[in-house]
Amino acid sequence: MESQQVEMVLTGIPAVAGIAVGPVVRPAPRVSADVRTGPIPESDRDAEAEALRAAAATVAARLRERAAAASGAAAEVLAANAAMAADPGWLAAARKRIDAGDPAPAAASAATEEFATLFTRLGGLMAERVTDLRDVCDRVVAELAGAPEPGVPTPERPSVLLAEDLAPADTAGLDPALVVGIATSLGGATSHTAIIARQLGIPCVVGVAGLDDVPVGAEVLVDGGAGSVTVGPDPREAARLVAEYRAIVVRNAAWTGPGATSDGHRVEVLANVQDGAGARAAGETAAEGIGLFRTELCFLDRDSEPTVAEQEAIYREVLDAYPDGKVVVRTLDAGSDKPLRFATHPDEANPALGVRGIRIAARDAGILDRQLDAVAAAGAGRTARPWVMAPMIATPAEAEDFAARARARNLVAGVMIEVPAAALLAEAILARVDFVSIGTNDLAQYTMAADRMSPELAALTDPWQPAVLALVARTAAAGRAEGKPVGVCGEAAADPVLACVLTGLGVTSLSAAAPAVAAVGATLATVTQDACRRAGEAVLSTTTPEEARAVARRILFGD
Ligand code: PEP
Ligand code: MG
Repeated sequence: MESQQVEMVLTGIPAVAGIAVGPVVRPAPRVSADVRTGPIPESDRDAEAEALRAAAATVAARLRERAAAASGAAAEVLAANAAMAADPGWLAAARKRIDAGDPAPAAASAATEEFATLFTRLGGLMAERVTDLRDVCDRVVAELAGAPEPGVPTPERPSVLLAEDLAPADTAGLDPALVVGIATSLGGATSHTAIIARQLGIPCVVGVAGLDDVPVGAEVLVDGGAGSVTVGPDPREAARLVAEYRAIVVRNAAWTGPGATSDGHRVEVLANVQDGAGARAAGETAAEGIGLFRTELCFLDRDSEPTVAEQEAIYREVLDAYPDGKVVVRTLDAGSDKPLRFATHPDEANPALGVRGIRIAARDAGILDRQLDAVAAAGAGRTARPWVMAPMIATPAEAEDFAARARARNLVAGVMIEVPAAALLAEAILARVDFVSIGTNDLAQYTMAADRMSPELAALTDPWQPAVLALVARTAAAGRAEGKPVGVCGEAAADPVLACVLTGLGVTSLSAAAPAVAAVGATLATVTQDACRRAGEAVLSTTTPEEARAVARRILFGD
């Protein structure tokens, strides 16, 4: 195509590594909620409300059906959306609008925006659910209009899906054989688009500037690792990159562990999970254990604290996935982007800097003690003692207090290093605990003073930031000095190249989302410990993430 002879490279946030080439497809347009204007006569309002209820019920049923046909995160997302469509609170808010004279589509849309404002104000994970809310509303509005369901068309040949942001119901039903790449102009690295794309193994870039102007049918190349979208790529170069990527996919799939460099330096490769199903899924991979069990994610929908018995049952499911292996249970990291109704400080101006993680225990040690009781009970009788770690530790005193509580219950005691103060005093902290695990997501957020959820600040919260790597290096050195394990369980560990650098800096375990495990292990197996060490040393002399990436790649792979 003539217009594609000049390459144009758009950049965004890397979400799922991999290369994909194909023509652009875009989701079908949404039906406007303003198709009918009010006010509607009073006598018609009951019928209008009934039409809305019926449309919402149809959409909910359809989403439930698709949830039943999907698996893993996709099934959860679709089920959650089905619940949203059937939510009595949302229907009641819309009914109020209808009673004031709004037609059903406008009422549904206004009620959705009420909820969207509330979710946005809550921030973090809740704010990321706003796309889901609006998607459900769009489906209901289309149903009311008798229009086809909005969403992603089924392409005839392998294509790249471009969109502003993808609704979970769109991404959850994607066929990775036909949608080979995804790029969105909105969304952060933890948006649903990114989560589902990761689960499906579809290369994905989010937050791409200039994407909305790329026309349907244009040939594009998505590089999910580099975070770029090339419009009109050179076909021969594109084919070469795709072939190279396919070979890597085959190599990764063949990796069976355990984690080690090519010359046998052992580094445990573990999985991050959030429940029993996730732990069992991790057990299907070559992950040697669980490096981070985010317990707070089990209780996001609870109004009151789960009982010790309830918690014990949930923790046991995760421990059972690795009966003889290492399982690191993180105590509740409530607050900020993961508010728990029973544990979160209600009104804080700056929740990320507020009472979150271990700080909740300072106000109410009972929650922590009961959780540790539950972990201990769940681990009773196992050959391997459960490991527990506290999030958001800022001082050695906090670490000491936590370790005492954990050891009193015969649990292996550790803490997360995700506050710069803790990295700076890592030696003193390590002297008081059995291990530490570096949370690079928060460590980057707090080191760079940049909200980890903000797509606008994604360049600052890049875990390749040399300042963040310097704190990782300092923590790993403290681990060597104290002779204790130092893991990484933030997203940095899911980046295969960075995983090699972290190994070189002295990190002893890497814990990543299960779909990333094979790529991390397989890549590590191609490099020597010495190359990792040299790459680790070299990144510490850089001043930008780009420079750090380039220098590491050169040393590790000769790129
Ligand atoms: C981190 O901060 O890197 C981490 C692993 O914890 P979370 O992402 O759950 O805050
Ligand atoms: Mg964290």
